[in-house]
Amino acid sequence: MDFMEKLMTKVSEGTKILSQKTDELLEITEIKMEIKRLEEEILEAKIFIGEMVYRNYLGDETSTMQLREKCKEIEQMYHRIHRLTSEINEIKGIRQCSNCHMDIREYSKYCPNCGNKIV
Ligand SMILES: [Zn+2]
Repeated sequence: MDFMEKLMTKVSEGTKILSQKTDELLEITEIKMEIKRLEEEILEAKIFIGEMVYRNYLGDETSTMQLREKCKEIEQMYHRIHRLTSEINEIKGIRQCSNCHMDIREYSKYCPNCGNKIV
């Protein structure tokens, strides 16, 4: 390979990596937006729960069922946020220590926080 060929190969490799990184960033941004949307929904659901608690206090029996259903919805949304956060970490190549739950870069063999061996 002559110099120009080598250079062109390097440039196209660089472009490939760059576009891959851009895709990853775009995906992370989309996931973060979804998390933000869920967090807002959770906030609204909690306001609703407050209203239900007050109606319950006033003697409205139907509010108890609605209260439970809303709590279940919130629980599911928190689960989804947790999954989305793991997705982001996976894209970034970050894993969690099984002992202290600290975020760790893929290439580390031991947790820098507690020394736990990363499997
Ligand atoms: Zn650890």
